[in-house]
Amino acid sequence: MSSEHYKFFNHRECEFFPCHKGLEDDEFNCLFCYCPLYFLGDKCGGSFKITGSGVKDCTDCLFPHRKENYEKMMEKIRGFMREEAEKRKKDTEK
Ligand code: SF4
Repeated sequence: MSSEHYKFFNHRECEFFPCHKGLEDDEFNCLFCYCPLYFLGDKCGGSFKITGSGVKDCTDCLFPHRKENYEKMMEKIRGFMREEAEKRKKDTEK
């Protein structure tokens, strides 16, 4: 049995569970609900659409909800944090 419980949880009592279709309920990871990659725009790596009004629509994306994608999600978040730290460092050197 895995001891890495911090990588996955399944909130079946949520009124919206499962909020995206296409995964078995037992496989649906709720850890990254309200996807933290949303702010990366077209660089998130997921399968989004842009609506006619210009809004990014993630309805068909299961990337953050696949349990096997935990490390990929964390790497994207860490990459963004590294880039931001570099920008801040350059700004303070000006
Ligand atoms: S398309 Fe997928 S990975 Fe990208 S922000 Fe939306 S839910 Fe996250």
